[in-house]
Amino acid sequence: MPREKKSKNDKEEGGPLQVPKGTRDIWGDEYFAMHGLLEKASEIALYYGFSPIETPILEYEALFHPAGEYTDMVQKEMYTLRTKGGGKLALRPEVTAPIVRAYIEHGMHALPQPVMLYYGGPVFRHDNPQRGRWREFRQFGLEILGTEKSVADAMIIRIFLTILEEVGLKNISLEINSLGDKDSRGAYKRALGTYFKKYASDLSQNAKMLLVKNPLRLLDSKDAGMADLKKNAPQSIEFLQEPAKSHFKEVLEYLDALGIPYKIENTLVRGLDYYNRTAFEFKETLPEEEGNPDARPLEFGGGGRYDYLGKMLGSKKPLPAVGGAIGVDRILSAVKEKHLAPRILKKPKVFFIQLGFEAKLKSLSVVEILRKARLPVKHSLSKDGLAAQLGLAEKLEIPWVIILGQKEVLEESVIVRNMEDRSQKTVRIDSLADYIKKVIAK
Ligand code: AMP
Repeated sequence: MPREKKSKNDKEEGGPLQVPKGTRDIWGDEYFAMHGLLEKASEIALYYGFSPIETPILEYEALFHPAGEYTDMVQKEMYTLRTKGGGKLALRPEVTAPIVRAYIEHGMHALPQPVMLYYGGPVFRHDNPQRGRWREFRQFGLEILGTEKSVADAMIIRIFLTILEEVGLKNISLEINSLGDKDSRGAYKRALGTYFKKYASDLSQNAKMLLVKNPLRLLDSKDAGMADLKKNAPQSIEFLQEPAKSHFKEVLEYLDALGIPYKIENTLVRGLDYYNRTAFEFKETLPEEEGNPDARPLEFGGGGRYDYLGKMLGSKKPLPAVGGAIGVDRILSAVKEKHLAPRILKKPKVFFIQLGFEAKLKSLSVVEILRKARLPVKHSLSKDGLAAQLGLAEKLEIPWVIILGQKEVLEESVIVRNMEDRSQKTVRIDSLADYIKKVIAK
């Protein structure tokens, strides 16, 4: 666990009847909405030619700071644990590094390139929970490994945007920037260092530390006092050199050709050294009239190029790659109409009522007959009386009811009741599925 001072309102030690802070149970409508979203996102990715991958929730801790790279995510927010054998593992704070690890470990360079992978699953960051921020949350991500072509960057952006739109988000804005390659990044970092040094006396302790360690990350700072300083800071695109310059131009050309509006955001950086060239984020556009000037828009997703990560993790060959992730929980919290549902969720067509022990015995066989005929059934396992069960069918607004009583069991039949006009008909069990299909099709 991360070492940190415990404040009064950060009770890590909840009772056994509480979920840990920053985590939650997902059930009921939210469960279906989440799986509906993941199913839709996966389907879109599959259409674009991506393949699924699932990597472990636990990885060796070192995977997340190759070559000693440190960020808040790694330094302060990672859940780490020691195994009985003394190994150091971490709950994954993101999934890009695990996918690059999987690519190298399974020799995916031998496959036709690029390798295009998608995933969906939980990640963990020990941050302070607030609106749209959890300690356990789910990401859906895309990675294209093995190409430096700008069309790959554009494709990732196109697909994320399609997903965000298709799940029902409105008013999403795309911000984009280019960080250049190693050479220009070095010059840019130095220029940023020189610029911020002039204002060192205005900087917080943490900002002063970043100034020494990695001035790029100052641009990531959410400090309100930094906004003006950041606005006037040197811009990475002024430092771009070929071929990164043409690469960025091409990405923007693709976006123009696709009709995707974007804003070039100079302060958008991904602070880790393995990121280069394209960086992008999707944010909610806050309506101005409601807008509190201090309100920060929710970020739904982000990503970029990480051409250096493969080498840093031990790939023998260069592994240019681009990818990103969207935050599933955050998107769900912002989607107003929850029309999302996975395909396995079936709307019940009939309600099954059993009266008496003999009928209960027979009931599972009847439900199985209907299931085989792809007719989803609702029923009550605990209610025994006719009125109570009919009441439930009515409450659930299920238009057809099947009633199985003692007499029907003996006659191998059931009563089928139309809840709308209250008409009923006795139907033999062996022809029940066909009969139901006929009446509900009307
Ligand atoms: P990142 O991996 O930091 O680029 O995050 C990608 C996306 O995951 C963000 O745009 C958010 O939508 C989502 N996300 C990041 N951190 C959290 C969090 N603590 N809780 C919920 N969603 C998050």
